[in-house]
Amino acid sequence: MIEAHAKDEALFCPAEGAIALVRARSVSDVQETLRFAHAHRLPVVPQGARTGISGGANAVPGSILLNVSGMDRILEVNQAERTVRVEPGVINQDLKNHVAQFGLAYPPDPGSVAISSIGGNIATNAGGLCCVKYGVTRDYVRSMTVVLADGTLAHLGAETAKGVAGLDLRGLFIGSEGTLGVLVEAVLRLVPALGEPLTAVAVFPDERSGLATVADYMATGANPRMLEFLDGKTLTMLNDFGGFGLDDGAGGMLLMQADPVPGQAETIMGAFTEVAERNGAIDVAYSDDPADSEALVTARRMAQPSYEHYAQRHGGGQLLDDVCLPRAAMAEFYDRVAQLRDESGLMITVIAHAGDGNTHPSVFFNAADPQETAKAEDVFEQIMEIGLSLGGTITGEHGVGYLKRDWLARELDEGTSQLHRAIKAAVDPLGILNPEKMFASLG
Ligand SMILES: Cc1cc2nc3c(=O)[nH]c(=O)nc-3n(C[C@H](O)[C@H](O)[C@H](O)COP(=O)(O)OP(=O)(O)OC[C@H]3O[C@@H](n4cnc5c(N)ncnc54)[C@H](O)[C@@H]3O)c2cc1C
Repeated sequence: MIEAHAKDEALFCPAEGAIALVRARSVSDVQETLRFAHAHRLPVVPQGARTGISGGANAVPGSILLNVSGMDRILEVNQAERTVRVEPGVINQDLKNHVAQFGLAYPPDPGSVAISSIGGNIATNAGGLCCVKYGVTRDYVRSMTVVLADGTLAHLGAETAKGVAGLDLRGLFIGSEGTLGVLVEAVLRLVPALGEPLTAVAVFPDERSGLATVADYMATGANPRMLEFLDGKTLTMLNDFGGFGLDDGAGGMLLMQADPVPGQAETIMGAFTEVAERNGAIDVAYSDDPADSEALVTARRMAQPSYEHYAQRHGGGQLLDDVCLPRAAMAEFYDRVAQLRDESGLMITVIAHAGDGNTHPSVFFNAADPQETAKAEDVFEQIMEIGLSLGGTITGEHGVGYLKRDWLARELDEGTSQLHRAIKAAVDPLGILNPEKMFASLG
């Protein structure tokens, strides 16, 4: 049982040595576990649904795995405040379905929306497809209750629409990847239900022109609710996997959605078409039929399964990166990744939450071949290096975990590393919460 809970979805991250698994059902279960761990100086690894891809939920030697996925009740919808109170194990899609009955929506929509938990989403500050307009998880957390390393309960943030009493500790804990406390309850902001979107598809002869369109389109002041990029290699893999009938002769594709504004559909789509065609689009089409939109978004969500399908037939290895860039740097980034592909001989694909500049290059390799595996790891690192050199960050949404702990140290300046160390020492003085991960290489 412990073994089965020892790791998340990341590759190349250690996950050995857990000594116990606690499947918490209540806040007091979490408090008792942390009091015990604190008294015995045992490491604790908080876990949600273990869909993470940076090894953040992986076991460390001698650790207690503290899994809160069973704390999965939706406790209360407050329509006047437009909030919902939840336990951490609630699955994101279940929350969306529940609040829809009240005419409300919870926008953050990671690709893992159907399998990841709200606690994990908050701990990683998860992003997703509609974040270009609606923001990331951080923008929806009004307050949260956490259990600190010694078992103390702390309520962070205010449940009111505004609140500036004290430091923004809520903000500090969001994205802290289980290194500062265990989230046991959250009050989340909701918005009125979103209307059926207008959806446009633009097909380009090459990747560069698709990515250049994104920067130009956003510069017009447009406010799309989704702007996703898929490169030509991904289109081919999607067709091989699911027969989606995408134009796999194309170099790249943009999928854009906008909220409907009565009488404005032609104007919105006309503006997108103009920018795409100016950048060399071969074809631009749009629809307000929910079935068309659903089919295209489904194809986009199938990118990762299609990668797994490809990897299974080509030696099993796939490293998924998460470099976020200034939008205007994406075309240059793609050119340099394509150069790496040519030089290494490895298959590299790129999809992106392009409206946010958040790219997901994947490096494929034969996992049974140590030389090729080492080459893939090297290429993966070079991709982060390119991202940093273009003014980007090593992770836009997947987090640091084990996978990028050395790279966090590369990205942060000395002053910022010092602040990280000081905060960790103040909040978790024994260093029992999720050690060997985010803070491990900061000195
Ligand atoms: C197919 C696929 C697509 C994905 N697409 C996206 C995407 O579009 N955007 C995105 O952001 N991510 C994406 N992810 C990554 C992953 O789903 C997210 O990071 C998600 O937020 C993790 O949630 P989880 O419940 O699985 O957390 P876990 O994997 O269990 O944990 C993730 C981290 O959070 C900590 N943690 C979990 N629960 C708690 C808690 N209650 N208290 C304190 N710390 C906690 C863990 O210690 C760990 O460090 C994807 C993953 C997959 C497999």
